[in-house]
Amino acid sequence: AGHAPKPTLVDSISRPSTHLPLVSRLFQPSNLRDVGQESRAQGEMTCKSQRLMQQAGLIHPSNPGCYYILPATVRSMEKLVRLIDQEMQRIGGQKLDMPSLCSAELWRRSERWDLMGKELFRLRDRHGAEYCLGPTHEEAVTELLASQGTLSYRQLPLMLYQMTRKFRDEPKPRFGLLRGREFYMKDMYTFDVQADTGKIGGKLSHEFQLPADIGEDRLLVCGSCSFSANVETMEPGRTDCPQCQVGTLVESKGIEVGHTFYLGTKYSHIFNATFNNTQNKPAVTEMGCFGLGVTRILAAAIEVMSTEEAIRWPGLLAPYQVCVLPPKRGSKVDEVAGLSEEVALFLGEALPSLRGEVVLDDRTQMTIGKRLKDASQLGYPYVVALGQKATEEIPRFEVICQQTGETMFLSRDGLVDLL
Ligand code: ATP
Ligand code: MG
Ligand code: MG
Ligand code: MG
Repeated sequence: AGHAPKPTLVDSISRPSTHLPLVSRLFQPSNLRDVGQESRAQGEMTCKSQRLMQQAGLIHPSNPGCYYILPATVRSMEKLVRLIDQEMQRIGGQKLDMPSLCSAELWRRSERWDLMGKELFRLRDRHGAEYCLGPTHEEAVTELLASQGTLSYRQLPLMLYQMTRKFRDEPKPRFGLLRGREFYMKDMYTFDVQADTGKIGGKLSHEFQLPADIGEDRLLVCGSCSFSANVETMEPGRTDCPQCQVGTLVESKGIEVGHTFYLGTKYSHIFNATFNNTQNKPAVTEMGCFGLGVTRILAAAIEVMSTEEAIRWPGLLAPYQVCVLPPKRGSKVDEVAGLSEEVALFLGEALPSLRGEVVLDDRTQMTIGKRLKDASQLGYPYVVALGQKATEEIPRFEVICQQTGETMFLSRDGLVDLL
């Protein structure tokens, strides 16, 4: 077995390898034309992240506010989900998954069946019973807890979270994944024995905003201290900072990527989620809710990091870390084509963090220039191209670091050190 011939590029094309994804095989349909059609049909302007994501075959529009999330984006989302899971579990969060079909009865008890108005997607089952598609899950999670009877204070705090699809009939779904009618949210619900508003800044609610021109929220930011607030919550027209009293408030725009709320006993009171306190007396639990827009964060990152032509990802979230480019078929340096595949496989083996993260752009009928342009557009953090210098006795590879735009010529060892 030690002498088994190394698989060649042709072999791996005919036998798809799980270790070396080939660009020619990736399902990344570019749908540039649809952007125009869709925006014309909806009379809506689009935004950079939506345009870039559709051009690159990362998302495909289905109906207003709904997208096919294509394979590369799913890879990226899974990375984000893993990061969020790590953080949630580090603070003691336990992951669960609640039904998206929520009974109207629960929502009537909290009065949100009426309060939510048209934003709630409503439907009936075959027996005529009414449901909504969950836009958030305070009712459901509180009812779940209440169904367990009276807890002991020793069981608290309890932190339950999920990352699931949420449904909201947004009046203006737009900007791609930034404002969908179906989107992924991480929602954590906490049940405590004591209210601790300190955790969320002594306020009842705290928004997390990513500064961006495309943002739909208007923010007032102090030039001198850390103060910032959503215009919705402040005296309109105010220009002096209420925190430091010195600075001037300047208006800017932001994308709301997260929102935490101190819910108090609002839901636990309605659904009777109780615990026995240290004096063994029953009391209702204090609740908090911590929401993160998973799909929105992804699109927002692309929105703020990309140029007009090329996608740039936060390094950790790029669908693939490295793209290896063999020379054009039939070119002077065609002899290093096999070496490209070897290098791509080698990187995944030498560096565990790159396992499954290296793709080979095997579209060797295309010039290296055209493929470099594609790679730049897709924003692989590192592009490794094989040219003249790869034919030298100690082959050197052209390495482009997309984040900085820097180009280097590195040997195999140099490449491993860099990555
Ligand atoms: P917005 O003000 O943008 O409508 P929201 O205040 O209604 O958001 P929350 O109820 O606070 O949203 O939900 C928590 C998080 O879910 C938000 O901070 C955001 O990141 C995300 N989110 C809300 N609505 C959408 C949507 N339509 N598309 C994508 N993500 C969303
Ligand atoms: Mg909203
Ligand atoms: Mg909001
Ligand atoms: Mg909000």
